[in-house]
Amino acid sequence: MSDLENNIQKLSSYLERFRTSGILNRIGGETVPAQSGETFQTHSPVDESLICNVAKGGAADIDAAARAAKEAFPAWRDMPAAERKKILHRIADRIVDRAEEIALCECWDTGQALRFMSKAALRGAENFRFFADKATAARDGQALPSSTLMNVTTRVPIGPVGVITPWNTPFMLSTWKIAPALAAGCTVVHKPAEFSPLTARILAEIAEEAGLPKGVWNLVNGFGEDAGKALTEHPDIKAIAFVGESRTGSMIMKQGADTLKRVHFELGGKNPVIVFDDADLDRALDAAIFMIYSLNGERCTSSSRLLVQDTIAEEFETRLTERVNNIKVGHPLDPKTEIGPLIHKTHFDKVTSYFDTARRNGATVAAGGRRIGEEGYFVHPTLFTGADNQMDIAQEEIFGPVLTSIRFGSEEEALQIANDVPYGLTGYVWTNDLTRALRFTNSLEAGMIWVNSENVRHLPTPFGGVKASGIGRDGGDWSFEFYMEQKNIAFATGQHAIPRLGAL
Ligand code: NAD
Repeated sequence: MSDLENNIQKLSSYLERFRTSGILNRIGGETVPAQSGETFQTHSPVDESLICNVAKGGAADIDAAARAAKEAFPAWRDMPAAERKKILHRIADRIVDRAEEIALCECWDTGQALRFMSKAALRGAENFRFFADKATAARDGQALPSSTLMNVTTRVPIGPVGVITPWNTPFMLSTWKIAPALAAGCTVVHKPAEFSPLTARILAEIAEEAGLPKGVWNLVNGFGEDAGKALTEHPDIKAIAFVGESRTGSMIMKQGADTLKRVHFELGGKNPVIVFDDADLDRALDAAIFMIYSLNGERCTSSSRLLVQDTIAEEFETRLTERVNNIKVGHPLDPKTEIGPLIHKTHFDKVTSYFDTARRNGATVAAGGRRIGEEGYFVHPTLFTGADNQMDIAQEEIFGPVLTSIRFGSEEEALQIANDVPYGLTGYVWTNDLTRALRFTNSLEAGMIWVNSENVRHLPTPFGGVKASGIGRDGGDWSFEFYMEQKNIAFATGQHAIPRLGAL
């Protein structure tokens, strides 16, 4: 049996229970259908077949989940942090135990290739371990004495929070948001993306098996415009951690205004990889390819604009085209596959529409620019050359395996092009000139920049974007700043003079 056949067989056994009972919500420790009784279907992007029915939660389900999260909050907040730490480590252990199931289900649900998803499952476990270890110090503060008062600061968890996640790497992203919330002492209502509900269900199940008290983590499936919207408007939900499109972030900000929601947004990107002619071009080529064609290009940090110096552009683009044409597109459960199908017909239509846009814009389709096969949402990895930065293909987030190459002459021009987009999530700079690297990164508008490297995450570092790419940072202590409130307590150290109004 080939590896692919073997994986398909294993997947089938993992999916059996979803086929039989569908995916229900998890509220206050109970597995429940949507109160309306409604369901929706999730399909595989590989062959468009039905995976299972999913509870279509709405405002009533969100209300029940928010109330469960509110009720569970005081006990979870007051549980000794060392106990919370143990539970979060047990969640990580169980993720590792079920990593294969998680990876196979994620691939089938999203179309992401197994070679990346097996690592994403394990990264999810690492997210839990990292924040588990930080839980015991989350409330630490400072002593700030004045001449009359001893000021002591501490942090307290903000309360029940809503977590809204997208479909591109749903498992990893859910852990990235939920682990710090729980470590901080918050309770959670999670609304996963409607296109990819499978692994969110497995994750909630793992959490309770690991000893998480009922109601601390609630899961409501459904669509953004009803379940998602209701979550952002609910008065018992104190903050919304959101990962998704910039325009959805803007809607959430409006929806949350009446209840003064604190928001944390990780949004879209149109990230440049800038290659100067003095760079290590072999490594730059590997990194540029990896950062746009891995994860089907459905990656917020993808380097979707290549800015290449005109002195080396011809040769660099020729080598790039050759490599792009060699990328293996195939079944996501085949370990050899580098690119799987795009998640959904809606997204497939959006990505493929840019093939015509590129031609209309006047760019050259140097590779790809077409779908593969008639079944499923497979597209040929695509490269546009001869582009300028004003074209739609250079300004808009395509969110697929599609790279737009733009040439530049000078460093000043490269910087101007790099910054001339609405987004500012990441930037990748390739040069061996140290002074230029320092100068360039200082002026590049992005929340995260890598020099002579692809995106390599280090969990203590701040993760997030500027401009339309987001508000706030995750990672390290920054996550706790979002999920917790600062509190200052001032103790009088003596008999300082208190103004005596009304005294004779
Ligand atoms: P999306 O904004 O369409 O949906 C994300 C989530 O928001 C889903 O759960 C959806 O149901 C929900 N939603 C939609 N409308 C809502 C509303 N009015 N109120 C509340 N919730 C609502 O995004 P997507 O298409 O699922 O994901 C792709 C996007 O996510 C891309 O733009 C990508 O760049 C971005 N992303 C960003 C990061 C990051 O860290 N910056 C990471 C991954 C993905």
